[in-house]
Amino acid sequence: MYDTAEALDVDVIGEQMYGLVKELYPICRSITGNGVRHTLERISQQIPISVHEVASGTTVFDWTVPREWNIKNAYIITPEGERIAEFRKHNLHVLNYSVPVHKKVTLDKLKQHLYTLPDHPDWIPYRTSYYKEAWGFCISHNQLQSLSEGEYEVFVDATLEAGHLSYGELFIQGETSEEVLFSCHVCHPSLCNDNLSGIALTTQLADYLSSRQMRYSYRFLFIPGTIGSITWLALNEGKTRNIKHGIVVTCVGDGGKFSYKKSRRGSAEIDRAVLHVLGHSCEGFHEIDFYPYGYDERQYCSPGFNLAVGSLSRSSHGQFPEYHTSADNLDLVKPQYLKESYETYIEVIEVIENNKTYINLNPKCEPQLGKRGLYSNVGAPSGSKISEMALLWVLNLSDGQHDLLAIAERSGESFRDIRNAAQALLSCDLLKEVTGGPFA
Ligand SMILES: [Zn+2]
Repeated sequence: MYDTAEALDVDVIGEQMYGLVKELYPICRSITGNGVRHTLERISQQIPISVHEVASGTTVFDWTVPREWNIKNAYIITPEGERIAEFRKHNLHVLNYSVPVHKKVTLDKLKQHLYTLPDHPDWIPYRTSYYKEAWGFCISHNQLQSLSEGEYEVFVDATLEAGHLSYGELFIQGETSEEVLFSCHVCHPSLCNDNLSGIALTTQLADYLSSRQMRYSYRFLFIPGTIGSITWLALNEGKTRNIKHGIVVTCVGDGGKFSYKKSRRGSAEIDRAVLHVLGHSCEGFHEIDFYPYGYDERQYCSPGFNLAVGSLSRSSHGQFPEYHTSADNLDLVKPQYLKESYETYIEVIEVIENNKTYINLNPKCEPQLGKRGLYSNVGAPSGSKISEMALLWVLNLSDGQHDLLAIAERSGESFRDIRNAAQALLSCDLLKEVTGGPFA
């Protein structure tokens, strides 16, 4: 499904994804509010998402959709009359979900509301207080150390009131009602890798798949982290039975090695597909067992759902120094890395789309391949290179109990070679598809 002409376009696609990251970077997002709406509006210029609004106070399993937060401005005025920690200069300066405040405080009192990173004294941390009312500012540690004794004026012009939680969703109907879920979070303010890279890649994937005939249906969610996935699952529980595979898309724009956090099931088809692709396409990657922390896979893999949802990233959750700081910026993410991530995701889609199970129609001794023209194809310059070993493996393991991915895993051949071999054998009537997957 991924031809040479399209491969040439991938460089352009890397730039396009980076362009979206750059456009969305200045917006102050949170788990609710206009920052998320503006982000969804921009995404909807590229793909036809529907935007859902869920009222504050709605019960979603053990949680409640919170009041909506919007912010206009925030800053601190020093005793010298200097304005610092200005929200309009960097939206990380304000504690995300800070309640409004306007008063004068001493330096000691102010310090109780300041967050810094002593190990990276130039960087501004990203901090939130969604479920506990608080006000605060995030500044560089160097700035903290330069503050003198005296009276400080603190000002946060924000509102926290009944409103809505917004999320975006796109469903693309495929040949079957079984679904593949791609989910990304849209709740972080000016942070590129953790948040915007996932949004850009998910948008690009949806754009790519929307014009193609696919075997699976595809669902794309653009949701605030944690409360967004909990809300979607609570309101769409009936749909979850169709989700056959899923990936939480995040941190796909930095230069780190690929990481794959497996689903709670551990050996679901999506886990096998991603690990196979990574094993054949890159030098070294991190395979991470499921753990109940991280991104929205926590909710999708909660025991009441236990969906086959993993998370494919470059650097993983919390494992890069720039994580949740002002250094997760437009320099950390690069078009080239986004492009590599996009290609990897496309490869994974190609595996799950084509992972079928066949039965060898000539199982008693090997069929004679030469008389069917299959040997002449070996290494043929026609572009349809069929590996002889792949042909033999497919014939040998197509007993109805091994899908093509299992054959690729056992043989060490790439999925692409195994699939090409299966197609050649199908065209010679040596294989028949077994519907319903491998029988045990
Ligand atoms: Zn984060």
